[in-house]
Amino acid sequence: MDKLERVKELHKILHEYGYAYYVLDKPTVPDAVYDQYLHELIALEEENPDLIFPDSPTQRVGSTVSEGFKKVTHANPMLSLSNAFNEEDIRDFDKRIRNIIDETPVYVCELKIDGLAVSLLYEDGRLVRGATRGDGTTGEDITSNIKTIRAVPLRLKENVTLEARGEAYMPKSSFLKLNEQRAERGEELFANPRNAAAGSLRQLDPKMAASRNLSMFVYGMGGDGEEFNIDTHSEALKFMKDVGLPTNNETRECRSIEEVMAFIEEWTTKRNDIPYEIDGIVIKVNNYSQQEELGFTAKSPRFAIAYKFPAEEVVTTIIGIDLTV
Ligand code: NAD
Repeated sequence: MDKLERVKELHKILHEYGYAYYVLDKPTVPDAVYDQYLHELIALEEENPDLIFPDSPTQRVGSTVSEGFKKVTHANPMLSLSNAFNEEDIRDFDKRIRNIIDETPVYVCELKIDGLAVSLLYEDGRLVRGATRGDGTTGEDITSNIKTIRAVPLRLKENVTLEARGEAYMPKSSFLKLNEQRAERGEELFANPRNAAAGSLRQLDPKMAASRNLSMFVYGMGGDGEEFNIDTHSEALKFMKDVGLPTNNETRECRSIEEVMAFIEEWTTKRNDIPYEIDGIVIKVNNYSQQEELGFTAKSPRFAIAYKFPAEEVVTTIIGIDLTV
């Protein structure tokens, strides 16, 4: 098979899996399988830039926006993150950054919460809109569902106007309970907490979302924070915490890539000790002016990367049902 044919075949496979995952919230294959095809495509595109097409899954974030919800256009695109799977990928990321900004940056390491990306818009301190990431440019207006999440304040402590971005997720305990109830009722089980959270927030009936006990952490702001004199990511997190938004406490500033690796190692062992799923560690350049200098690719910022934990052999034994997908 020639390279063009293989590229087209990979598009087809990845679009199909992506549709099941992002639109239907029902993955048909494990993430590791999706990632493997995606990496084959990335490698082919890197070797043959003429085979990069605008509709390639490497150039797009998420998937199409489902009908049934009002559409929301994001003021700034909600992008994805490029991935790292091992120490070498992280060190390459660090090298690329130091080549561009010519110094060692301060990195902020955060837990990569396994839920779905959500934007919260506050006007004069009031929550006026909650939206999904969707395809990055256009998301779904899920305000009624977002308002059912207790961790999301309807009013901030100050009358500020801002867009907070973060991850809505289903705690492990809610997920287990939900699947137990579904099994009792003979209903189809959710594959994992991420899909359960996404499925819950993309229900048209807010009562359904309310019954699912979701939670949320915010990890960034939609704008550049200039109006609040914010110059770094750490300051943005502190600001959001101070106005009452739910930030995650397990965040650390690291002054070298060794410190980043130590954080990753620590959480590779501790990840099962916390009440929500994480699927990796996100590493971000702290300084906003350095972030600006590094810029973006079509799909993701160059100033951040998501390290993914190796796939676990999760054959879940709860209620005796295989939930490996
Ligand atoms: P991603 O999961 O690789 O990373 C980007 C996302 O991480 C962000 O959009 C944000 O929602 C989230 N995130 C969590 N914590 C964060 C933090 N602290 N800071 C910043 N962002 C944070 O990217 P993606 O585009 O959402 O999805 C790709 C993933 O979906 C891959 O793991 C892939 O395997 C999986 N997938 C699986 C299938 C399948 O069929 N199984 C299909 C498509 C995609």
